[in-house]
Amino acid sequence: MKYKRILLKLSGEALMGNRQYGIDPKRLAEYAEDIKDITNQGVEVAIVIGGGNIFRGVAGASHGMDRVQGDHMGMLATVINGLALQSALEDAGIPTRLQSAVHIDQVAEPFIRRKAMRHLEKGRVVIFGGGTGNPYFTTDSAAVLRAIEIEADVILKGTRVDGIYNTDPEKDRSATKFDHITFEDVLRKGLKVMDTTAFTLSQENELPIIVFDMNKKGNLLKVVSGEKIGTKVNL
Ligand code: UDP
Repeated sequence: MKYKRILLKLSGEALMGNRQYGIDPKRLAEYAEDIKDITNQGVEVAIVIGGGNIFRGVAGASHGMDRVQGDHMGMLATVINGLALQSALEDAGIPTRLQSAVHIDQVAEPFIRRKAMRHLEKGRVVIFGGGTGNPYFTTDSAAVLRAIEIEADVILKGTRVDGIYNTDPEKDRSATKFDHITFEDVLRKGLKVMDTTAFTLSQENELPIIVFDMNKKGNLLKVVSGEKIGTKVNL
């Protein structure tokens, strides 16, 4: 395997499958199988999960809700998704731990870096819930932050498109995909990979990002084994 320790970022929306809201157990089970395929190869896996399928702070604020209050709801949504993912992984026979950036001790361990790393060394999948634990951030920022902290080799952003395009492939049929692109070029061309805070944190810490289609069975294993699918962003 090309990568020994990875951080997989899954958006909350990815868990919806074909639904409009919430969690699709079938989709979760498929993800669990894909994750099992890489843990079976000895790859250490940490996961940051989003919350957009349940609640986003910005959406609340656009309806007049206090932004911080909404962000707290969003962070709790990521814990709910983390629990669902944990359950699916355990059904697939994968030992897991859920660590939360917000204290919710009856439900999840608190985030402790050394403990997280020990879990990974022991072959447990570690799910990080609660984002960064702070309002005004996103789970993409949490993903980059945790990836750097646990010294992951790469951050894998599993999406429903198969990489980074020069324009939106869901709107423009002539859009072309990059196999590889530098951090600088992403910024220069104004492409959207992650929010700016997350993206620059990754750039400053020289942490490569691979964007790939997580909804195609077997893709995760291909990416981790070094096959050139998706788009890789690095220096
Ligand atoms: N959130 C937050 N701080 C964080 C991470 C998340 O306040 O560090 C809140 C924020 O309201 C966000 C919501 O949690 O809208 C869900 O996270 P995100 O939108 O990143 O989820 P995704 O788009 O990946 O599903």
